Amino acid sequence: MRILVTGGAGYIGSHTCVELLGAGYRVVVVDNLANSNEESLRRVQEITGKGLTFVKADLLDRAALDALFYEHPIDAVIHFAGLKAVGESVYKPLEYYHNNITGTLALCDVMRSHGVKSIVFSSSATVYGDPAQIPITEGCPKGEIMSPYGRTKGMLEQILTDLHTADPGWQVMLLRYFNPIGAHISGRIGEDPKGIPNNLVPYVSQVAVGKLEKLGIFGHDYPTPDGTCIRDYIHVVDLAVGHVKALGKMMGAVPKAGAVADSIKGGIGTSDRDAVGGVWVYNLGTGVGYSVLDVIHAYETANNIKIPYEFKPRRAGDVPVCYSDATKARDELGWVATHTLEDMCRDSYRWQSANPRGYEG
Ligand code: NAD
Ligand code: UDP
Repeated sequence: MRILVTGGAGYIGSHTCVELLGAGYRVVVVDNLANSNEESLRRVQEITGKGLTFVKADLLDRAALDALFYEHPIDAVIHFAGLKAVGESVYKPLEYYHNNITGTLALCDVMRSHGVKSIVFSSSATVYGDPAQIPITEGCPKGEIMSPYGRTKGMLEQILTDLHTADPGWQVMLLRYFNPIGAHISGRIGEDPKGIPNNLVPYVSQVAVGKLEKLGIFGHDYPTPDGTCIRDYIHVVDLAVGHVKALGKMMGAVPKAGAVADSIKGGIGTSDRDAVGGVWVYNLGTGVGYSVLDVIHAYETANNIKIPYEFKPRRAGDVPVCYSDATKARDELGWVATHTLEDMCRDSYRWQSANPRGYEG
């Protein structure tokens, strides 16, 4: 089976390519390298000992996408490509809506014209807003989303669901990630943010290697046991494995050749027929929440170093507590996150210290 991975040169995409190749899939990556480096894909091939195809193109370039689908018969798409900086999206809403939404519309239109109707989409826990319940199940109502970036996720979930309503042959897998951190155990691929990191663990890692002086903790007067915000941190390799499981579930739902004819003869049950297309939603998290101070302490213990920090005012838009109920993915995908917070911190540091300038060398 050949999988198109959009945004495959990026952080989560590159780790997912490793797991896809390991599971025996063929992989085609499309990426415009707006927030990544082709070196990540070279290293994916080095780690796995397997080849993949890379097409440098923008999702907004329909002609390039069309040519890609002609050249490479694709069975399903895992769609990571998008801009993801929450703060930047507030200042550049047009760029975010255009890139993330128009890019996805172009992708789906080209998929449709080539008869490819299976897509796994990178959504986010941000769609829950300030969550109505903790832990957050998939049934938790979507909340008020706090940024244009987050709103692109909410809107794209709806657009993809509408696509399935219009043509029930579409298979739409919506994966809501919690907080991915960590890196591949080899230390060869990891998160390589451009400029000063916005996210906690990349910032901590740059403090750890001396690139930044000290961490600022945004707020210590939240209604949590230590006053700092609580999140559900998940190892990026667990997240990548979750994609392979979700893809397997989705593609397993495609009836085998002849199954539809059998169903007409009454050969298979209603549930099998319903499984031809569908919309699935899964949280990908660990089900455990850790505070900012927990993360710092785990990072210090795992790597035997000190992380200097100071308290700063709250950051606009942060919700106090956000962690998943991960039981649906466990029960239906047979997937559970296995890495501990210390594993995540150890692997982040290994990547950062071996590649202090990221893929630049
Ligand atoms: P990333 O920036 O490392 O990867 C995204 C990739 O998409 C980059 O390689 C970038 O060059 C590419 N890209 C962007 N726009 C493109 C376009 N128009 N055409 C072609 N390529 C394009 O980000 P990531 O952390 O790997 O995130 C992957 C996906 O998961 C994103 O959709 C992101 O919004 C989502 N997500 C990430 C997190 C997180 O914390 N990292 C959390 C929830 C959801
Ligand atoms: N955070 C922090 N200092 C930083 C970056 C993040 O205190 O330099 C906090 C942030 O306020 C939040 C948590 O760390 O409570 C996780 O933030 P991140 O941006 O990594 O992920 P988010 O949950 O916002 O997507």
